[in-house]
Amino acid sequence: MRALCPALRRILCRGARGCGTAAEQERGGTPSAEPSFGLLFDIDGVLVRGKTPIPAARKAFQKLVNPQGHFLVPVVFVTNAGNCLRQSKADQLSHILGVPVSQDQVMMSHSPLRMFKRYHDKCVLVSGQGPLLDIAKYLGFSKPVTIDLLRETFPMLDMVDHNRRPKILPSPAVELPKIDAVILFGEPIRWETNLQLIIDVLLTSGRPGDPHQQFIYPHIPLLACNMDLMWMAEAQSPRFGHGTFMVCLENIYKKITGKDLKYEALMGKPSELTYHYAEYLVRSLATKRQWKKPVQTLYAIGDNLMTDIYGANLYNRYLEEKNSRKGTQARIQAAAGTRASTVSQDVESSNGWESELSSSTATSCRSVLVCTGIYNPHTEVPCDTSECITETVFHGHRDFRFDPGLVEPDHIVQDVDAAVELIFQLENFAPKLNRTS
Ligand SMILES: [Mg+2]
Repeated sequence: MRALCPALRRILCRGARGCGTAAEQERGGTPSAEPSFGLLFDIDGVLVRGKTPIPAARKAFQKLVNPQGHFLVPVVFVTNAGNCLRQSKADQLSHILGVPVSQDQVMMSHSPLRMFKRYHDKCVLVSGQGPLLDIAKYLGFSKPVTIDLLRETFPMLDMVDHNRRPKILPSPAVELPKIDAVILFGEPIRWETNLQLIIDVLLTSGRPGDPHQQFIYPHIPLLACNMDLMWMAEAQSPRFGHGTFMVCLENIYKKITGKDLKYEALMGKPSELTYHYAEYLVRSLATKRQWKKPVQTLYAIGDNLMTDIYGANLYNRYLEEKNSRKGTQARIQAAAGTRASTVSQDVESSNGWESELSSSTATSCRSVLVCTGIYNPHTEVPCDTSECITETVFHGHRDFRFDPGLVEPDHIVQDVDAAVELIFQLENFAPKLNRTS
């Protein structure tokens, strides 16, 4: 068993915490027809495996919509994928689940970039693959620059592939505007090119035609989406994810300058920023439906302990901390879990999001683990405890501390249909199916 920590052993041996919150236990009596909770669904391993729908998903979603196809509960899909537009993902989900899903219900790893308005009119370098310029523009960026454009403008920079070196000495480069920030959307195709050019941009304060100036620190702002080190595809073993690319960039920067690469923001599960934004989407959906009850409990349903469960528990820890400090403004980045603490202040103070984020009504975020994806409940626990691999192989991002308490799910269920059943039961929720609004 790989990457198994003592906390996970306990889960495998005795199941999840499963005791329910005080609020859950207090509920009872007359069933509620209007939701005071919202659902956050992971996609891969919960609703689909590769391109194949998980049978329980359709069954679960029949319970979540009324005969008119309207959702009975605010539902948001939270994926770390980032190589397509929200509408494309919504269309895929509608097809897979057999219910109408709107793009307002979809959250990609890059979705919180909408909040970083102070970069929207700046020149930003974007790294990744897929329709990057379309995605950047959709998110509000008016001046995105691709690695390809940078490479064309400065053809002497990309020298690793001998066949791609310029054959003749190019004429002086046409000047690009100074690059003000770098955004890592996802894993690129030519890693050596992206690594070289991003390092050039960071070491020249956004003027890659200039010589490196290693004493400039901190470097220009760097924002990153999707920290997943690896992911499961059809192969027997996991494949490199964007997190692996980030490890390369972090280590090259550190080796060259002796200093740590600094992220202005890290987005995608398990970052708190992701859950703040997901809660905002849940709240918006509830408002749209004119539901009167505030959304008090979020349920995050996922198959990955290190992203879905860690992220939900980290957000729950933040909510608990916020609630225990009523009257004082809680910081978005709670003390535990991350060093990227400047994110909250930046988002709150400079983007007018303070009111949105402070209007959070949730008091808890419960984690629900399903057994249809990465998590395997039948994996055997090794007898020799010295084999137990712990923090030293933590696959989370550098800026997220390993914390055994954060990878314990509140509930473990077989599949997404069982998750929905359980949540309806915990919430004593009995929707009136003849409602049309
Ligand atoms: Mg998953």
